[in-house]
Parts: sequence; structure tokens; C-alpha cells
Amino acid sequence: MKTQLYSVRMHASSNGEHLSGAETLVPENRLEAELVALLQRARQHPRGEAEQIRFAVDLVDQQDLVSACLPELRTLQVASVDQGRELAQSLLQLTGVTATAAQTAVACLASGASTSGQSMRGAMLVDAGNGARLEADHDRGVRVSRIGLEESCRGELARQLEVFGLNNPHVREALVLAGKVSLHPDILAELCWSDDPDYTTGYVCSPELGYLRIPGLKPVGETRGGRAFFLRPGTELKALVDWLEQTPVLFDRIGCLHSAEDGRSYAARLATAAG
Ligand code: AMP
Repeated sequence: MKTQLYSVRMHASSNGEHLSGAETLVPENRLEAELVALLQRARQHPRGEAEQIRFAVDLVDQQDLVSACLPELRTLQVASVDQGRELAQSLLQLTGVTATAAQTAVACLASGASTSGQSMRGAMLVDAGNGARLEADHDRGVRVSRIGLEESCRGELARQLEVFGLNNPHVREALVLAGKVSLHPDILAELCWSDDPDYTTGYVCSPELGYLRIPGLKPVGETRGGRAFFLRPGTELKALVDWLEQTPVLFDRIGCLHSAEDGRSYAARLATAAG
């Protein structure tokens, strides 16, 4: 008999403000351990003490399960936050996002994309052409759920990331999330930086570019972070949101991991190759 698979979601908040969240897919033999680990994470989060911690556990219908390969990973070095944000915008433009849409998204994340000027719980949906925000709720955004690593892939990813000193939950979880997002044909690219005040690395990810980490995409101590998914103009929103929230994706293969390199040289090389 096939092992049952559960979707686990956690959301912690205080005074109505989002503090932390997590979503994963776990086999039944790891369910309890995962719930305890997420409870500990919610209670020890650097963004503050949670007043409310909510869990949702749902059995997943494995008929819909998608198996996929994680994106390739590269680290691009920059000299400052401004240079990092400029680099992120150049990379986004190489994926077909307009300069206006890239600039608007960076400005929204920098100033706090929720209605109160803080971090949203989920991602913004941004029209890749005109930069308009398309998500129905500017506080909640869209939370990508039902994402995880196949058991055999979990250990292998940890081992390979270790070689580059990158084996931490931020990288592992963001890579999995970005991997699912980049599978959707209507999403040209994603931009992210964390809302965790101690974690300043962000990334741009797209099917062609892979997962491009940019250390120092925000200043230390900054609690405003977020995600922007850049949509092909005219994308049918309901189908897209249903897919991001509901379709289970388990990664069973790892993309190539590359050494760190200078961000500007890398972008210049890509731009030349693109003609
Ligand atoms: P994190 O990388 O966990 O620090 O999250 C940074 C930001 O990304 C959060 O403030 C949310 O706005 C957004 N975010 C986190 N998790 C998800 C998710 N599962 N789906 C969509 N957006 C997310």
C-alpha cells in the first residue's frame, strides 16, 4: 500500500500581523515530528512571540501528485543592497518582465506590500507587462502550498548544499517553493526576499535562469520582505491560484548547484548571450 501523504500548513501571528508561516508535504511516519518542529519554529521566530498559531493538516490525493526536478542554483555576489536590487531587476527583465513591473515590485516589497506597510502573508501577483497588482487580498496574497521533497531527495539535497555552506532551512524551503512556482507556464519569474530580520539573501527564479540567490538584497534588521510572482498578461487568475495552493508537487531530483560568482558579470554574460 502506498504511504499516505499529508499537507501541513502553519501560520503564526500576533496582533493581527503575520509573523511566520510554513507549508510542506510529509509522509505519515513523519507527520507528528513535523508538527512539533513547526510549533517550535513558530514559537522561536525572530520576528517575535506568536499570539496565535494555526495548523492545517490535510490528506493529499496522490492521483494529482506532480514529480519534478528542483531548479539549478547559483549565488550572485553584489557590493550593496542597491546593487542587488538593480541586479534583480535586470535579471527579471531577461525573463520578459518589463522594467516598470520589475521596479514596481521591488518598490512594493521595500516599502512593505501589505495594506499596513508590513509584510504580506503570501505573495503578490504582478502583471509582468504593466506591473499592476492582481492578488485579491493585499494582506494575505497567495500562499503556495503542498510542496515537498521526496525522501530520497531530502538527504541528497542536504549533502550537496553542505558543500557550498548553504544547507539551512531558508535555502532548502525557498528552493522547493520557487521550484513549484517556476513550473507554471503563466509565471515568467519570481522575486523574493525574506521577512526574517536576520536573513538578508533574496533571489530571482525563472524556468530559464534557475534559482539565482543574491546575498544582501535587504539590510540586516529589516522585517519587510515578500514575494512577487510575475504573470503573463491575461493569465486566468482563479486557475493559477488554485494550482499554486492545491496541486501537490514533490521534488525527486536536484538541479545542478554552482559556485558563487560576481552578479554584474553574470548578468552581462546572459544579456550578451540573449543578443
Ligand atoms: P520567508 O522566505 O519565509 O521569509 O518569506 C518571505 C515572504 O514571502 C513572506 O513575508 C511572505 O510574504 C512570502 N511567503 C512566504 N511563504 C510563502 C508561500 N508559501 N507562498 C507565497 N508567499 C510566501
